[in-house]
Amino acid sequence: MLQLKDYEEAAGAQAIEELYLLAEKTKGLSVQNINSTAVGGGVAEILNRMVPFFKELGVNARWDVIKGGESFYKVTKKFHNALHGKEESLTPEDFAAFLETSEMNERTMELGGDVIFVHDPQPISLVNRKASMNSKWIWRCHIDVSHPDPRVWNFLRPFIDRYDSSVFSAPAFSQELPIRQFLISPSIDPLSDKNKELSQNTIDEVLQRFHIDPEKPIVTQISRFDYLKDPLGVIEAFEMVQRHVDCQLILAGGEATDDPESVEVLAKTRERASVNPDIHVLAIPSGSDIEINALQRASNVIIQKSLKEGFGLTVSEALWKAKPMVASAVGGITLQIAHRYSGLLCHSIEGAAYALKQLLQNPGYAKKLGENGREHVRQNFLLTRHLRDYLLLFLSLFHTEDIVRL
Ligand code: UDP
Repeated sequence: MLQLKDYEEAAGAQAIEELYLLAEKTKGLSVQNINSTAVGGGVAEILNRMVPFFKELGVNARWDVIKGGESFYKVTKKFHNALHGKEESLTPEDFAAFLETSEMNERTMELGGDVIFVHDPQPISLVNRKASMNSKWIWRCHIDVSHPDPRVWNFLRPFIDRYDSSVFSAPAFSQELPIRQFLISPSIDPLSDKNKELSQNTIDEVLQRFHIDPEKPIVTQISRFDYLKDPLGVIEAFEMVQRHVDCQLILAGGEATDDPESVEVLAKTRERASVNPDIHVLAIPSGSDIEINALQRASNVIIQKSLKEGFGLTVSEALWKAKPMVASAVGGITLQIAHRYSGLLCHSIEGAAYALKQLLQNPGYAKKLGENGREHVRQNFLLTRHLRDYLLLFLSLFHTEDIVRL
């Protein structure tokens, strides 16, 4: 099992030392994380990696998942889209369905700990139990709520306002709230199966398994099949590039159990791709971390053409592998990529195509961007920095007058 000292090479010995020092103050604290899915998507990815290290640091961390049926997840997906600012039809029945499942979870969920750490809107109403408990409550929003649909935001506000603190991923997402707000960006684990170094043999074997030609340049997007990840836009941009450069496209992703839209988006993507033999649409089961790692490492360029994005862990994952990236200038992506320094940002399908072509045709330039990207991730988006920020956050909950600073 990995231990924090294994991260000295990636994060620096000082970062690890700092963590142990801080952990002296949080030793014995119990923290319950709650979200809506154990697999798929960035939140599950992060919790999976963080919980064992909290334990190593003496924080008694656990992670629980709320229950819900299809109608609940249909509504929460609409909420998710609407909070990102996407047009959604919302009916009174939707809000009622949300409350019905929420009340069931409030009644049945086992809750306990010094800190109840609630992720995203799905479990938000659990805060109704706050008065009967002696815990501090954090709402951690992973969504870009800079322009939320007011119907959903105003519906959620009475819940949010009762938390002790809130956490957002980027400064642009913060909102006027009566509770304290912390800005903490997510992170990747450099030594996980998703991100660790792989042998060329492993990479070749994965390409072979997915019938991908190792000789032809590869452009890849790794994402859940979600309209906000714009897989059809990626195909359009790719086909513009294909007229100039002989290359292939991989669109790889799985499902999140809390995303009922993914089946439809995957079907549409497959249909659109079926006329182009250079496009590989790969539906891969959750937990295929080595496969994703290998596909990212085998790629010449990685794209993340999201229409909205809370953070976009896939961007840091690719940059950590020193891959040149083309990504939309949305949400948390702009924290990770400085245009023309650590990747190329785009604002349209044409812009994405232009940037892809530029990187495919200028490997020296592409390599430099990838190297800069890796250094930027090392300094800002590794798990060790994230653990440190969360420990400080926990401490601040119990020192409301005197926020601890390091
Ligand atoms: N991911 C995965 N399998 C997939 C698609 C995505 O493991 O089929 C991972 C991806 O590598 C990343 C996370 O899920 O770690 C997605 O996080 P991100 O912040 O990019 O987007 P989200 O899905 O949370 O919107």
